[in-house]
Amino acid sequence: MTTRSVRPKLLHTLPSFFRRLNSAAPSSISAVAAFDTAAPDPKQDPITRTDSCDRAINVDDSDKIFSTVSTTKLIRSSMILHMVAVESMVDFGMWVLNSKLMGSPLAKRIVFGAIERSFYDHFCAGKDLMEVGGTVKELWDSGLGAMLDYGLEHATDNEDCDRNLEHFIRTAESVNMHPSSSVSFIVLKITAICPPSLLKRVSDLLRWEYKDNSLHLPWKLKTLPVFADSSPLYHTPRRPAPLTREEESDLNSAHERLTKLCIKCIEANVPLLIDAEDTSIQPAIDYLSYSAATEYRKNDGDPLIFNTVQAYLRDSKERLIVAKRSADEMGVSLGFKLVRGAYLSSERQLAASLEVRSPIHDTIQQTHACYNNCAAFMLEEICNGSGSVVLATHNVESGKLAASKAMDLGLDKDSHNLQFGQLYGMADTLSFGLRNAGFRVSKYLPFGPVEQIMPYLLRRAEENRGLLSTSSLDRLLMRYESSFDHLSLFESHWKSINGMILESH
Ligand SMILES: Cc1cc2nc3c(=O)[nH]c(=O)nc-3n(C[C@H](O)[C@H](O)[C@H](O)COP(=O)(O)OP(=O)(O)OC[C@H]3O[C@@H](n4cnc5c(N)ncnc54)[C@H](O)[C@@H]3O)c2cc1C
Repeated sequence: MTTRSVRPKLLHTLPSFFRRLNSAAPSSISAVAAFDTAAPDPKQDPITRTDSCDRAINVDDSDKIFSTVSTTKLIRSSMILHMVAVESMVDFGMWVLNSKLMGSPLAKRIVFGAIERSFYDHFCAGKDLMEVGGTVKELWDSGLGAMLDYGLEHATDNEDCDRNLEHFIRTAESVNMHPSSSVSFIVLKITAICPPSLLKRVSDLLRWEYKDNSLHLPWKLKTLPVFADSSPLYHTPRRPAPLTREEESDLNSAHERLTKLCIKCIEANVPLLIDAEDTSIQPAIDYLSYSAATEYRKNDGDPLIFNTVQAYLRDSKERLIVAKRSADEMGVSLGFKLVRGAYLSSERQLAASLEVRSPIHDTIQQTHACYNNCAAFMLEEICNGSGSVVLATHNVESGKLAASKAMDLGLDKDSHNLQFGQLYGMADTLSFGLRNAGFRVSKYLPFGPVEQIMPYLLRRAEENRGLLSTSSLDRLLMRYESSFDHLSLFESHWKSINGMILESH
């Protein structure tokens, strides 16, 4: 086995290496007036842009960035991120999880035990609210907030939904047990409180109503627009049958569950962050989120509901603008969470199977440009006095662009209306860089029993290819600090890990 480790000389060249690793293309952040999701303007001077953005946040000074993180934690995190980056290891893990082996209780215990002590520990905040408390405090002590995500999704029936709701209610009730303001959001996936089969039926009917406004939906509540002219409607090729009585009653129950959670969140004075899922059910998710937003706001008038927009979708910017403008006209207090989107392969597969154009941007550069344009739009809205946004991204370039734009606009960095978010266990460089620059930053903390969190962990593993651009930044910075401060102690350990990784490529 060859053993190679990264030499100090190479480590000093890291800043330029990071810039190459970071796949975000330069994008025109101010070009938001038109619905322009085209590739970035190549005429823009990237050096001027990068210089001003680099001044907004510093992600290169590892000593400063990780000053509040213990060395033991850095080493542990670094090892896990190295393992996740080895594709053969991720493929092997996926194979084991999908194999017949998992039918054996003993094998299952061993596999889940191993996952729990490694990936789960790294990416999740704990099995229950007690364990989460420690993680929230640790984050808060290092200047970061917490988005509490009881990792439930895809309920099968009403009983399942009711059980899930209890967990969300308890999570909202737990907010006051944590240091004041340390919990920035309660997270909800609508599929945990409304079965996906019903969300699909509702989405089909909403799409058909958009195509044919003579269709009357008797169950429809006051809401905001969930489509724009550019929204694809291919999921619904035929006029769907109306909801049956039972379906209407189930939809009503889902509304009631969401209402109960909204009331709990108002009592706990914490906003509710609603995740986006896949496009076959997203119209119903948006419909439920927006109808809750038209009814509820926090007691201080700030938005209670933050709905998520996925910038990898070609219609996302137009939908964001239509919903935002409509909320303003109706006096609805509403926040948005902006993400790129995590259901890339299933969206593309579905579109290919229906022989239609994928709803996702053709190139990653277009997704980057769309994300940055949507972020710029929201920052300008905030500057003009309305709106709240959570910029949920690990992309360093997007973080820098948004921070720099916020500073140019003179936005208050500590305002509730502008927050950044990264997943727990990922992109710590960006989180701490933004925090050090004075912005509000939270980590998205999934928690719950290991079996329940598996879909989330599998999404993180699947995302690994894309993560090479940003998590490698963390991996290298972590190694940088650890290897300098503790070289004598850990040199042999690092050498063997590096050797294994370099050999596997
Ligand atoms: C706090 C937080 C909350 C989140 N909530 C949600 C949520 O509710 N719903 C959801 O779907 N996701 C959610 N995500 C995940 C998110 O959508 C991304 O999967 C993840 O954050 C990576 O995107 P990024 O902005 O960090 O950018 P990067 O690290 O630059 O990653 C870019 C990724 O975009 C993908 N991609 C997008 N468009 C294209 C394209 N056209 N061609 C090729 N690849 C493309 C690539 O796979 C790549 O992995 C959340 C993320 C965070 C940090």
